[in-house]
Amino acid sequence: MFDTPTLSRFVLSFFLLLSADAFSKTSPLAQAPDWSWLGRCNNVMTREEFQKALQVHYARNDAAKGWVDIGESGARIRTEGEQWQEVVFAKESESLAAPLERFWRKASELGAAPTGKPLQGVRIAIDPGHLGGEWATMEERFFQIGKTRPVAEGDLTLAVAKRLKPMLEKLGAQTVLLRKSDSPLTQHRPKSLESAAAGELTSAYTADRLRRQSELFFYRISEIRARAQMVNERLKPDLVICLHLNAEEWGEPDNPKLTPRNHLHALVNGCYGPRELESDDIRAEMLAHLFGRTEQESVPLSECVVETLAEATGLPPYTYFSPNASRVGDGPYLYSRNLLANRLYRVPVVFLEPYVMNSGPVWRRIQMGDYAGEKMVEGVARKSIQTEYALGVAEGLARYFRKARPLSK
Ligand SMILES: [Zn+2]
Repeated sequence: MFDTPTLSRFVLSFFLLLSADAFSKTSPLAQAPDWSWLGRCNNVMTREEFQKALQVHYARNDAAKGWVDIGESGARIRTEGEQWQEVVFAKESESLAAPLERFWRKASELGAAPTGKPLQGVRIAIDPGHLGGEWATMEERFFQIGKTRPVAEGDLTLAVAKRLKPMLEKLGAQTVLLRKSDSPLTQHRPKSLESAAAGELTSAYTADRLRRQSELFFYRISEIRARAQMVNERLKPDLVICLHLNAEEWGEPDNPKLTPRNHLHALVNGCYGPRELESDDIRAEMLAHLFGRTEQESVPLSECVVETLAEATGLPPYTYFSPNASRVGDGPYLYSRNLLANRLYRVPVVFLEPYVMNSGPVWRRIQMGDYAGEKMVEGVARKSIQTEYALGVAEGLARYFRKARPLSK
């Protein structure tokens, strides 16, 4: 039993807790954001430029309503709780004179490249999506038909990354792989994330539910946060290539369904939803991309890479019908979507999703393994899937930088 004063203290602290929670929200495993950089955004963008970037690319359909107010001379941004900060718009002439400080360089800001080395001096981080290896079944990016070669996305992306690295270096790039094996970058493991995972589960849960949530926090959130820290604080590259393979629903991993569907698309950061923007960290990260004009490089870069990859693979475009993605650029292959990796990496990110791993033809090619040269695939001589993917990406990057860098004299 509570005596009355204790009870009222309890009720009061409960409501304080509730109201703090209701007004300051962060996404799982995120810290409360530091907004001090917003002070450097005055006179960085004109009103027109800001409005277009926000309403067309980052927060379509008024998704930022209640969080970002566009006034005549500036934007009011809600930082946390009921606190707002004003950022003054640049007058037309100031717009491009005061870009926000950033470590990555646009292709047009690099010097001319020697012939045959269009990527000379470009710093590229290659991110082989997922972990694979001993983590593949936990990640649910794994299936196997009978005793055939298992299909694990993390192993395939690593093989593509290892093919891609020397190709990019031959073109002059400086490259780093965010992982070279299936060892996670994060120091956490599901066990050490249990209390954080429990905080995410609102209703009563079973031990099995908690285990799955802790695993998800480990491989999907903590691991990507660790990679982002490496990208933003240590490597500071000009761009990141995130390598993935797609899949359609396959059902049971030991009795997977094969599908005739096969496709390709790429994703740039953008298209935030109203629920996502309720989190202070997500809102801050979106605005950092917006004021940093990341999309001005990531859109043409990603479009060039994905179009070239489409030529190399012959894959048709994937079409989104959900509101969390929106078509950008001129071709059919590129979409904006807010993913953890393309949001947290504070650089232009090319996020690729070619091949449906459980489409019949792709599965049969995966069974052939990685090989040199060409082999007959359904009557056509083809490179291994790993080499075809890597070559398409390397050629796409070469094409973009040849076009976007200044011409050599
Ligand atoms: Zn993936």
